[in-house]
Amino acid sequence: MGKRILVVGGVAGGAGAAVKARRTSEDAEIVVFERTPYVSWANCGLPYYMGGVIQRREELFVVSPRRLAARFNVDVRTRHEVTAIDRSRKAVSVRNLDTRDTSDERRCCAPLSQTATSPAPATLSCARAENSLR
Ligand SMILES: Cc1cc2nc3c(=O)[nH]c(=O)nc-3n(C[C@H](O)[C@H](O)[C@H](O)COP(=O)(O)OP(=O)(O)OC[C@H]3O[C@@H](n4cnc5c(N)ncnc54)[C@H](O)[C@@H]3O)c2cc1C
Repeated sequence: MGKRILVVGGVAGGAGAAVKARRTSEDAEIVVFERTPYVSWANCGLPYYMGGVIQRREELFVVSPRRLAARFNVDVRTRHEVTAIDRSRKAVSVRNLDTRDTSDERRCCAPLSQTATSPAPATLSCARAENSLR
C-alpha cells in the first residue's frame, strides 16, 4: 500500500504542504480536509480588498479546489472538518459539513506533524497568552 497523507486545512500551510508532498512523492495518496468552501486564498490581500485596492473578491482566490485537485492529483475535500486526531490509531475523524456524515480516515507511514512551538521565551507575557502556540 502506498503512502497516505492527510492534511488538515487548505490555505497557505495546508495547500503548501500538500503540494510539497506531491513533489516529494508521485505515488502518495494525499487528502486535504478544509472546513470552508475555499482553499489557497490570500489572507494577506484582505486589507487591500477592504480598502478597495483589490476590487473583485474573486481575486483573493489564488487556486480553486478543483484546480488544486487536478494539477497536483490531490483529493481536496472542502466543507469537511476534522473533529479529532487519534495519533495512536493514526486516524482522524472527519465530518462532512453538508451531509453531517462522519467518518474515520486512516493514514499510513509518516507520523502526523507535531504542533508548532513558538521560540519566544516563556518569560514573555505573550508566550503565556491563551492563543499562544507555546
Ligand atoms: C489581514 C491579514 C493580512 C496578512 N498579511 C500577511 C502578509 O502580508 N505577509 C505574510 O507573510 N502573512 C500575512 N498574513 C498571515 C498569513 O495569511 C497567515 O500566516 C497564513 O494564512 C497562515 O496560513 P495557514 O494555512 O497556517 O492558516 P490559515 O490561513 O488560518 O488556514 C487554516 C485553514 O485550516 C482550516 N481549518 C482549521 N481547522 C480545521 C479543521 N479542524 N478541519 C478542517 N479545516 C480546518 C481553516 O478553515 C483555514 O482555512 C496575513 C493575515 C491576515 C489575516
